[in-house]
Amino acid sequence: NLSDKLESVFKKLRGQGVMTEDNIKDALREVRLALLEADVNFKVVKDFVENVRLKAVGTEVMQSLAPGQQVVRIVHDELITLMGGDQDNNLDLAAKPPVVLMLVGLQGAGKTTTCGKLGSWLRKQKRRPLLVPADVYRPAAIEQLKTVGRQLNIDVFDSQTGQEPVDICSAAVRFAELNGFDTVLLDTAGRHQIDDFLMNELERIKAAAQPREILFVADAMTGQEAVTVAGGFNDRLGITGVILSKLDGDAKGGAALSIKAVTGAPVKFVGLGEKLDALEVFHPDRLVSRILGMGDVLTLVEKAQSALDEKETARLTQKLKKNQFDLEDFLAQLQQIKKLGSLESIMGMIPGMGKMVKQMQGAQPSEKEMKRIEAIIRSMTPAERADHGIINGSRRLRIAKGSGTTVQEINLLLKRFTEAQKMMKQLTKLGPKNLMKGMGGLP
Ligand code: GDP
Ligand code: MG
Repeated sequence: NLSDKLESVFKKLRGQGVMTEDNIKDALREVRLALLEADVNFKVVKDFVENVRLKAVGTEVMQSLAPGQQVVRIVHDELITLMGGDQDNNLDLAAKPPVVLMLVGLQGAGKTTTCGKLGSWLRKQKRRPLLVPADVYRPAAIEQLKTVGRQLNIDVFDSQTGQEPVDICSAAVRFAELNGFDTVLLDTAGRHQIDDFLMNELERIKAAAQPREILFVADAMTGQEAVTVAGGFNDRLGITGVILSKLDGDAKGGAALSIKAVTGAPVKFVGLGEKLDALEVFHPDRLVSRILGMGDVLTLVEKAQSALDEKETARLTQKLKKNQFDLEDFLAQLQQIKKLGSLESIMGMIPGMGKMVKQMQGAQPSEKEMKRIEAIIRSMTPAERADHGIINGSRRLRIAKGSGTTVQEINLLLKRFTEAQKMMKQLTKLGPKNLMKGMGGLP
């Protein structure tokens, strides 16, 4: 986790006046490694790190922020800028209908699937899309798009057998005009790699159909390869946007950043699954968080909301606010957390929580441990559960005997409880909306 690494690199910097070339060298190395690890193109990384260096050197070391956080903040802001900022990355649909959107990319990148997803998204925007199969080389390609159209109940243009892709597209645009479709989605052919025949065909389709947008569909899993390919498509066609598919895999998404840097075209959507509703408008900050290992807070909140018993959570939150979170609640909390999956994966989603994860590693209770914890807490008197401060040595011994455990185990449990108490306090103070701001060291 980059935030953590930087924090430790910068510990020694506390109390020094400003950041200098010398004292941020290690931090910049961590930044460089993190970006390369996230599959960002090395040339892009080089320029980027240089940029951060320029921004950081001479900056005052703030007392309120850990210097590591300060650099993370600069890195975060610069990454967002690099990805085109928080500008409106939406499709250009304002032109006179029918607005033509052309999807291009290698074979298997996800064009056909994305065509359906986009159609569905457009319909939600109250538009009337027409899907156009312009891949005549793979025998099943047209049928695939028709199936997608059927599933979504979106019209698919009926091409004639043997019709050339360029003619299909021209005819489809005319058909759309005559039949009241306001948006035309061209699902073009792909190849395993860029070849001249395909590029030539795509150029002719572009000339004939006059697309308002040429959207390059990139498979996030292919990493660096996608960057080279994007450059190739951009040189010949001039792409206006990128759709990053398969971001549901473990790709860190560094490719997106590089593609923007290399082609200038912003990422507009991301694909998050094979299902036809797994498309989202792209949010630079979410991807940046993913790259920096700061976690996706929104994902966490959503996940937590669906899994946690809302009433129970409200009750605990209330107690937390009043500083009454006790061992009884701790037990309830552990049981809730278990429902969410591994503690580590949950904590990993919270910015700045990496350290806590390390501290709590091994704290993820197994079924058996859970029973012991429960036994221990049940062996305490109500007074002890409400205020663990009173649990002295002789009480610990009594509890250990009563629960069939050891004093060491009691000690460990109390230590974990104190940690959890601290953590919970932090979380409630911030509230979900401010988690990002507060814990990422952001403004
Ligand atoms: P095309 O050759 O570019 O038209 O690619 P397809 O649309 O046929 O997709 C190739 C494969 O990738 C199919 O198995 C799709 O289901 C899958 N796919 C497309 N988009 C996504 C995505 O966002 N996530 C995942 N997991 N799979 C995807
Ligand atoms: Mg296809």
